[in-house]
Amino acid sequence: MFTKILIANRGEIACRVAATARRLGVKTVAVYSEADANAKHVAVCDEAVLIGPAAAKESYLCGDKIIAVALASGAQAIHPGYGFLSENADFADACAAAGLVFIGPPASAMRAMGSKSAAKSLMEKAKVPLVPGYHGDNQDADFLHTQADKIGYPVLLKASAGGGGKGMRVIEGSAEFKAALASCKREAISSFGDDKVLAEKYLQRPRHIEIQVFADTLGNCIYLFERDCSVQRRHQKVLEEAPAPNMPAERRAAMGEAAVAAAKAVGYVGAGTVEFIANQDGTFYFMEMNTRLQVEHPVTEMITGTDLVEWQLRVAAGEPLPKRQDELAINGHAIEARIYAENPEKGFLPSIGTLRHLQTPQAVVFELGGTPAHGAGLGVPAGVRIDSGVREGDAISPFYDPMIAKLIVWGADRKQALARMAQALAQYQIVGLASNIAFLKRLVEGQAFSTADLDTGLIERNQAELFPAAQAAPAAALALAAVALIEAEKEVSAAQSGANRADPWGQALGWRMNNPYTRTLSFGDEYAAALPAKAYAVKLTYRASDWLLDLPGNPEHAPCVVNLMAQDGNDFSIKVGERAVHGTVRRDGELLHVFTGGAHYPLVYHDPMAHAGETEAEGGRLTAPMPGKVVAVLAAKGQEVKKGDALVIMEAMKMEHTIAAPHDGLVEEVLYNVGDQVADGAPLLAFKAAA
Ligand code: ADP
Ligand code: ADP
Ligand code: MG
Repeated sequence: MFTKILIANRGEIACRVAATARRLGVKTVAVYSEADANAKHVAVCDEAVLIGPAAAKESYLCGDKIIAVALASGAQAIHPGYGFLSENADFADACAAAGLVFIGPPASAMRAMGSKSAAKSLMEKAKVPLVPGYHGDNQDADFLHTQADKIGYPVLLKASAGGGGKGMRVIEGSAEFKAALASCKREAISSFGDDKVLAEKYLQRPRHIEIQVFADTLGNCIYLFERDCSVQRRHQKVLEEAPAPNMPAERRAAMGEAAVAAAKAVGYVGAGTVEFIANQDGTFYFMEMNTRLQVEHPVTEMITGTDLVEWQLRVAAGEPLPKRQDELAINGHAIEARIYAENPEKGFLPSIGTLRHLQTPQAVVFELGGTPAHGAGLGVPAGVRIDSGVREGDAISPFYDPMIAKLIVWGADRKQALARMAQALAQYQIVGLASNIAFLKRLVEGQAFSTADLDTGLIERNQAELFPAAQAAPAAALALAAVALIEAEKEVSAAQSGANRADPWGQALGWRMNNPYTRTLSFGDEYAAALPAKAYAVKLTYRASDWLLDLPGNPEHAPCVVNLMAQDGNDFSIKVGERAVHGTVRRDGELLHVFTGGAHYPLVYHDPMAHAGETEAEGGRLTAPMPGKVVAVLAAKGQEVKKGDALVIMEAMKMEHTIAAPHDGLVEEVLYNVGDQVADGAPLLAFKAAA
C-alpha cells in the first residue's frame, strides 16, 4: 500500500478520498486554488499546496503543476476523483512517465471509452447490446440526415466526446435535423473541442441503469450490482438508488455480465461504470462507460458494505480485488440525493453565496467500510451518510460545481430508505443561498418516485406535483417568526439599557402604563419577485406573560394566545392556541428563515428601521424613519454614547422604533422633546462619530 497520495481534486470527493486514506494510514496531499485557500479539503488533508488561481484551467486542470507537487511532496500516487483530470488519458500517461501511479484505469482503456462512438464500435465486437443508431466516422450532414431518417424519430444526437449531459439534441422529426445537427456540433466543439457526433434512437420512457464494475491488475473483473439513476434534470442525475427497483435476478446477472464483458474488452483496471439505457420491458443497451469513480458510488457502498475508494487504492497498489463475485450480496436499499446550490423554481439555475447557516441531519451514523448502523435511537435518522466538501461559513463560488453535499440513506428496504430520506431532508437547513432541498423532498415523497414509477422523464412528467403553486406561509411559521423577533428585541434592549435596566423606555418589552400595547409586524415572502407577492400583517398584543397574535392563515380567524415554552438559541418551542409548534428561526439581514414541520419559509421582515441608519451614518444626523411621535428621549446634549445605544424612541405606524447610535460618538444636539410630532426624514439629533 502507498504511504502518501496526492488528491487532484476538491470539494466533496477530495474529502471523501482523504477519509479513506486516513483510515488506512495513508498520508494525503491536497492541492488547491486561490479560491479554495480555506476549503474543507485543504483542512482534512495532511499537507496542502497552492497550485494557481481560481479558474480550473489554471489550477485543478494543470496536470504538470500537480505532478510537480506530487513529486516534491514524496507522494507515490495521484487520485483524480471525478471531473477535472479523471478521464484525461494524457494526464494518466504523464503520471506514469513521472514515475507516479495514476489511481484509475490504464490510459489505453480511457482512450477506448473516451469517445462514445469508438466505444460503441468496440462494444459491438464484444457483443454488448447497443441502441440502434449510427456511430461511424462519416460526419457529412446529408449522410447523417439519411441515417437519422433510417433510425426513425425521435432521434438523439450526441457529441461523441460529450459528458455531463452536454452536447445532446433530441430531434422529433426530419425537418428539424439540419438545425439540430449544426447546434449540436457548435456545442460539441466549444465544450469538448471535438465536433464528432453520433445518432441513436431516442428511447421512450427509458430508465438509466448502470453497473459498477471493478477489475484488478491480476485479471479479475467483477460487478457490484446496479444503480438506478433515472431521476434526472437536463440529462443529469438528481437521485440515485441501489438496487434498481423491480430488477429480476436474471436481468441483474445479464447486465452485470455485459458490463464485465465491456470492461474486459478494453483491458480495464480499477473502478468503472457501464451505463445502460433500459426500456420499461427490461431490454437494455450500452450507452457509455465512465472510466472513473462515479458521483453516486456511495449507494453501492451502502448496499455491499464496501469502501470503493479503499478498493481503488488497493488495486492501484497491485493488490487483488478484496472480494470475489460470489462473496458479494445486496444488503438493503440505499438512495442518494444531490444537494445543489440551485433554484429549481427558476429552471435549476445555480445559486452562489455563502452557507451562512448549515444544519445537517442529526446523528449521521455510517462508517465507511463498516456495516450500516440500524435504529440508532428514537428520532435519529439511522443509516444516514453525508459526503460534503463544505462547512458552515464556506462559499459556493461560481468557479466550480454547485454541489453542496450528497445525502445518502440506507434502509432495510426501499420503503425504509425513502422514509429516512424524507426525514433527513426535513432536518437539512441551509441559509445563505438557494438550494434544491425542498424540491428533493417533494420528489422523494411524490407519487412517481415513491412507487418506483421510474423513467428519465419523471421530473418533466410531474411538473404539477413537483412545482406546486406558492403556498402562503402557515400561521405556525408566522408565529415562530414573530416570537423570534420579539425575543431578539428583548435581548437587544437588555443589552442597550445596560445598568439602566429598570428604565422601561430602554426596553422593548411592550411595557405600557395603561392599555396593552399593540403593534403590527409585517412580513413578506422572500420570493416575492418570482411569485405573486404575499404580505402578512401579524397583529401583536403584549400581555403580562404571553402574547395575543392575530395570524393570517390561522384557521380560527381570531387572535390566539401565544406562549414561549422553551428557547435554545435559534430553536423555539411555542404554543399557538392549543397547538405546540417547534421550529428554528435564523435571521440573515432582513430575512427570517423559519424551519418548521420539515419545511423552510424564508420571510422578509419589513423592518421600517432597517434602512434608517444608512443615511444617518453618512450625514452625522439621525433622522426619523417615517412621520411619527417622539415617545422617549434617552440621550442628552453633550453625552458620549456607544454604538447601538438607544437615543430616541418614536412611535409610527403603530410600531415603536428605537433610533440607536450608529457608531460610538457624541450627541451634539437633541432637536425634539417627548410628545413632539416629527415629519418623515426630519433630523432628530446631531451626532458626531468618534474618530
Ligand atoms: P456521474 O456521471 O459520475 O454521475 P455527473 O454526470 O453528474 O456525474 O457529472 C458530470 C461531470 O461533472 C462528470 O465528469 C463528473 O466527474 C463531474 N463532476 C460532478 N460533480 C463534481 C464535483 N463535485 N466536483 C468535480 N467534478 C464533478
Ligand atoms: P453523458 O456523457 O452526458 O452522461 P450519456 O450518454 O450517459 O451522456 O447520456 C446521458 C443521459 O441522456 C442518460 O442518462 C439518459 O437520460 C439520456 N439518454 C442517453 N441516450 C439516450 C437514448 N438513446 N434514449 C433516451 N435517452 C437517452
Ligand atoms: Mg452518462
